[in-house]
Amino acid sequence: MKTTFHIAVLPGDGIGIDVTAEAVRVLRAVEKKLGTFSLTMTTHESGAICYQRSGSDLPAETLDACRQADAVLLGAMGHPDIRKPDGTELTPQVTLRIALDLYAGVRPCKLYAGARTPLVTVKPGEIDFIILREQTEGLFASLQAGIVLGDQVATDTLVMTRRGIERICEFAFRLAADLGPRGANSAAKQRPLVTCVDKANIFKSYAFFRKVFDEVAAKHPTIAKQHAYIDAQALHLVQRPQRFDVIVTENMFGDILSDLGAGLIGGMGMAPSADIGDHHAVFQPAHGTAPDIAGKGIANPIAAILSAGMMLDWLGKRKSNSDLVRGGALIEQAVAAVLADGKTLPVDQGGKATTHEVGIAIARQVQD
Ligand code: ATP
Repeated sequence: MKTTFHIAVLPGDGIGIDVTAEAVRVLRAVEKKLGTFSLTMTTHESGAICYQRSGSDLPAETLDACRQADAVLLGAMGHPDIRKPDGTELTPQVTLRIALDLYAGVRPCKLYAGARTPLVTVKPGEIDFIILREQTEGLFASLQAGIVLGDQVATDTLVMTRRGIERICEFAFRLAADLGPRGANSAAKQRPLVTCVDKANIFKSYAFFRKVFDEVAAKHPTIAKQHAYIDAQALHLVQRPQRFDVIVTENMFGDILSDLGAGLIGGMGMAPSADIGDHHAVFQPAHGTAPDIAGKGIANPIAAILSAGMMLDWLGKRKSNSDLVRGGALIEQAVAAVLADGKTLPVDQGGKATTHEVGIAIARQVQD
């Protein structure tokens, strides 16, 4: 008998809707190809248009469905013209992170053959690192709690807790152990490398982050560790991206570095991500709703499709189902094959294929 897994699908707004449709198509292709599990995928409302219509960007029934599901697949949310009464943006995806305690933002940055990198010195496969962003505290702890005094002074407070740092650092070392050596640097040492990125030379909070990181590192002697300051790390990622395996950092630094990482591997359309907690996980492309290309049918769906692959891998490991893990690998192989073949390249990678055509090509590749 087939095992059934329940996926809550939240397409959201803008290109989120288009790329999610292609991720669902590819998941259906995997389900058909392997034939040993079935996925119940139910779509739920959320995002800026939902807010405009219902007054909520994450209705209670959607949040409930996310809580009940085995995993959540999300597109992108937000609209530049739809804001809260105080003028701030709608960020239901951040609300979801807090509600489901999704403390680990996992952002793989892998350069595939056929993808457009701005770096002339790196070859496909040489960039293969994961940015791990702490997602429940740091500077984002101040979300909606910043203060503006008399139109003269504004403050936002950065919060670090021992528990928050310990669990993201533990996650980093477990992830590194799971991956084994990947980057050029760690391959030479024959052990995976975790890099702690902070600003410990200036701020007490980041020095605390580093101290706790070192305490956690001491429990994982088979994994190499190093430290870097955020400013230097931005430079290292451009000049020597081959050197990194797992990079762990505070919420805001992780937010910024993940866009830099995406830039190295072909842009936002190539960057998948997962928001993982101890009980729930949400999988979504790292990009937003891309208002500049929304409605044109040219968004690259690869980030969303790779995120769906990460979802199968995570679910498979969690449920001890090797077919799901195999499904995740199948998706990655299909993406790599379509990119390397070069006949159906999305517009942002220098091709002419529409969102839909790229999705179909990857789904076909899965079935072949
Ligand atoms: P948000 O605030 O929701 O993150 P944004 O416009 O600031 O929205 P993105 O939506 O991530 O940020 O878009 C950043 C840039 O990357 C835009 O130029 C956009 O067109 C491009 N982009 C993002 N996603 C894709 C995609 N899937 N395919 C092609 N280009 C993309």
